Amino acid sequence: MEIFDLTIEELRLRISRKEVSAAEALDSVLSRIDKVEGRIKAYNTLTPEKARGMLAEADEKAPLYGIPLAIKDNMCTRGVRTTCSSKMLENFVPVYESTVTSKLIKAGYVLVGKTNLDEFAMGSSTENSAFKTTSNPWDTERIPGGSSGGSAAAVAAGQCVGALGSDTGGSIRQPAALCGVVGLKPTYGRVSRYGLVAFASSLDQIGPITKTVKDTAILMNAISGRDPMDSTSAPIPVPDFEAAAGKDIKGIKVGIPKEYFIEGMDPEVDTAVREAIKKLESLGAIPVEISLPNTQYAIATYYVLATSEASSNLARYDGVKYGFRAEGRDLLDMYMQTRSRGFGPEVKRRIMLGTYALSAGYYEAYYGKAQQVRTLIKRDFDNALKEVDVIATPTSPTAAFKMGEKTADPLQMYLSDIFTISINLAGVPAISLPCGFTKSGLPIGLQLIGGHFDEEGIIKAAYAYEQSTGWHKRRPAL
Ligand code: GLN
Repeated sequence: MEIFDLTIEELRLRISRKEVSAAEALDSVLSRIDKVEGRIKAYNTLTPEKARGMLAEADEKAPLYGIPLAIKDNMCTRGVRTTCSSKMLENFVPVYESTVTSKLIKAGYVLVGKTNLDEFAMGSSTENSAFKTTSNPWDTERIPGGSSGGSAAAVAAGQCVGALGSDTGGSIRQPAALCGVVGLKPTYGRVSRYGLVAFASSLDQIGPITKTVKDTAILMNAISGRDPMDSTSAPIPVPDFEAAAGKDIKGIKVGIPKEYFIEGMDPEVDTAVREAIKKLESLGAIPVEISLPNTQYAIATYYVLATSEASSNLARYDGVKYGFRAEGRDLLDMYMQTRSRGFGPEVKRRIMLGTYALSAGYYEAYYGKAQQVRTLIKRDFDNALKEVDVIATPTSPTAAFKMGEKTADPLQMYLSDIFTISINLAGVPAISLPCGFTKSGLPIGLQLIGGHFDEEGIIKAAYAYEQSTGWHKRRPAL
């Protein structure tokens, strides 16, 4: 096995035993990138020189010394371009480090580059990037999912050992599912958003994308916790997530929500997820039928709230404060030219939708109503999670689709997140992990949802399932 194929856990052990040097690990990942990046297009920016510098500066005693990671290109990295895959920020170089990346650097990790995404994290296929479309390593004619498609593809293709993504409505879990890797969206407030370019601030969370559940736990240990720079980060103690992986799951109750096994879902996904639930049962878990009755309103609610927040957050890109600026006849014209040319079509669609939903005459009917429904959706989860420990669902209704298949129809694209979006509205944590493959060899994801701040519960269940299968050991042939 090549070094780039190792997990964080394995590489950490080998580096600590001096069987592999951190420099060799970095070289292995960089030469893998050289070999496959032309086909995968996972990265917007590569920083090999900076990575070598980090390696030199990192303390050899740091717990995760020398492990190469990739960062979604919507998290600020000091001195390294942070584009959000938008023309608007194409040349934006932050003067500060996001909390998550500075924590990783302190822990000894080495950052090799910034990964492609749907512009401003709006999308489910990475096709909304202003720069390029990333390919799915399992079939390069298909999308890797989105919006953290670059991070998920880079992990699956061995172009980094682990990565960070961000998840507003599914953007960590859905690409993880479609690329056959593990992704976790933490509880809202578990991880600092300081330095994450805001899309919808009440929904956004940063989380890991890795090859295994254990690796996700290791990265969660590094990035979690209260941060004085983010007032929405929670002052709640951070447990040792790694220790949760390996605990017994006998007797835990697994909720199966009937609203998540619906018509229109790919039968191969349905079968794989049902088999995964049987597997959990064979490991001692007790399946319980549950209902999340307001599920049908999730997509509509999300697209009112997320676009409203986005329209407000993206008002700052006016040609004055950040990045791209177009010339205009006067100030107003300059604003209009800048925003017309700097943003892509999906971002504009959302700004218009959100501005409309927030406008004086419609505020109560749309934004106000959506907030009320959000509360109902959150209550569904609160009630269900009083009865069960975790909830099991598919992550995505289908496996990876072909490039271009859904670009003409935004509503079709929005349905890709039908199983992930409610979780952000409720603020609870959820993990996606591989639970099988379609006949044509595409990965399928299982989603496990937990109660607020119970990442340990979903890590424990996910790890037990993963270890009883071999899905996480498969690698795409590249
Ligand atoms: N696909 C969803 C959207 O387009 C979710 C994106 C995300 O989680 N960032 O908004």
